[in-house]
Amino acid sequence: MGSEEDADVIIVNTCAFIDKAKEESIDEILGALNVKADSNGAKKVIITGCLAKRYADELKAEFEEADAILGIADYDRIVETIEKVADDGKVFSCFSADKFYADRVLTTPYHYAYLKIADGCDNHCTYCAIPKIRGKYRSERMEDLLKEARKLADDGVKELILVAQDVSRYGIDFDGKPHIFELVRELEKLDFEWIRLLYLYPEMVNDEFIDFVKNEPKVVKYMDVPLQHIDSELLKMMNRRVSEDYVRALVKKIKDAGITLRTTFICGFPGESEAQYDKLKEFILQEKFDFAGFFAYSREEGTPADKLPNHLDNKVKEARANALTALQTKIIKEKNKSLVGKTLRVIYDDIDYDKQMFVGRAEGQAPDIDNVVLFGATDEVHIGEFYEVKITGSDGIDLVGEIV
Ligand code: SF4
Repeated sequence: MGSEEDADVIIVNTCAFIDKAKEESIDEILGALNVKADSNGAKKVIITGCLAKRYADELKAEFEEADAILGIADYDRIVETIEKVADDGKVFSCFSADKFYADRVLTTPYHYAYLKIADGCDNHCTYCAIPKIRGKYRSERMEDLLKEARKLADDGVKELILVAQDVSRYGIDFDGKPHIFELVRELEKLDFEWIRLLYLYPEMVNDEFIDFVKNEPKVVKYMDVPLQHIDSELLKMMNRRVSEDYVRALVKKIKDAGITLRTTFICGFPGESEAQYDKLKEFILQEKFDFAGFFAYSREEGTPADKLPNHLDNKVKEARANALTALQTKIIKEKNKSLVGKTLRVIYDDIDYDKQMFVGRAEGQAPDIDNVVLFGATDEVHIGEFYEVKITGSDGIDLVGEIV
C-alpha cells in the first residue's frame, strides 16, 4: 500500500454527510497539507468528494495551499488535474452532480467489489443533506451496470455489493417502477458467488422484497435497512414515511425469514424526549439486532430538521448514542456465544498479522462495517476462497474459529 509520504500527489476524497464525517475529512486535508509543507511544497494536494462539492468556496478560502479542488462531477478530470498540479498549476472545479462513471479501478481486495447502481436521493429525510449534495435519484443504465459487472466477474470478483443511497428504488426513474429484482436476476447469471444489497429504504422492503432476498440463490441473506427510530412522531418529523407498527412488523418479518439485519439509528433528533429515547432503548433490548449503528443527530445547514425547535445539547446526543452503542456491543457479544460450535461458510479476506489469524466473513457480515471471523488453518489458504470455519469462541466482537 502506498503512503502519503511516498506520493507525489495526495488526493483527499471527502465526505460531508454528517459533522463527524466533515471533521474527519478536514483532519485528512490538514494531514495532507502538513505532508505537503514538510516536502517544502514538492508534494501536491487535491481535495475532492462531497465536502468539496458542498463547501467549494469555503475550502478554497480556508486551504489556500491545496493545489486543486474537484467536485463530484469532475472525477473524469482527475488525470488532467494531476498533470496540471504536478506542473505547479491550480485547479478549481465544482460543477453539479449529474454524471456517472463506468470506468473504474478496483480499490477493494480483488475478490469483492462495490457496484454503484444509482446516485442521489428523492426520499428527503429532513435531517439529510445528501439530496442537496448529490441531487435527484438517478439510476445507472442496466446495460452499463451489466457491462461493468461482467468485467468484475471476469477479473475474479466473487462478491458483488450493490450500493446507492437507496438500492431498493433502483430503476424507479426509468418508468416509475423499481427494477431491482430484474437487475439482480441478470447479475446472478454472471460468475459471482454472493450478491449483497446495501441500504434499503424500509418503506420499500415489503413481503415480496423479503421473499426475494430469502429465495434468490446468490443473494446473501443479509439486509441493511436504516430504521433511524422507533417512535412514530419522530419518524414523521424525520419524513421517514413509516410508523412504529410498520417498523416492528418489518423487523419481525426479516427475522422470521432468517435474514441478518443491519440497521442504524439517530439519537437526539430535535425534540427527542427522555421517554422517546427510552422507547428506542427498549426496542434495541427487545429486538437484539444483529448489527446496529447509533449516530448522534448532526445539524446540517439547509435541511428542514435544522430549523426545528428544541435541539438537544451535543453532550446529551452523544451520551445517548454512546449508551446505545455500548448496549449493542453487549448484545453482539451475547449473540457470538450462541454461534460457538456452529460451522459458517466464510470468504477469506485478509490476514491480521498482530493476531496471527486469517480474517474472513460469513454471508451475514458485510465488509468494512460488520465484525469478522478470525480463523486459523493447518493447510494452505488462498485469499478470496471460501472455507468452512467452525466457531470456537470470540475476540471482542469478532468471532474466532478453525477451518474444518
Ligand atoms: S434515504 Fe438516506 S440519503 Fe436519502 S434523504 Fe434519507 S438519509 Fe438521506
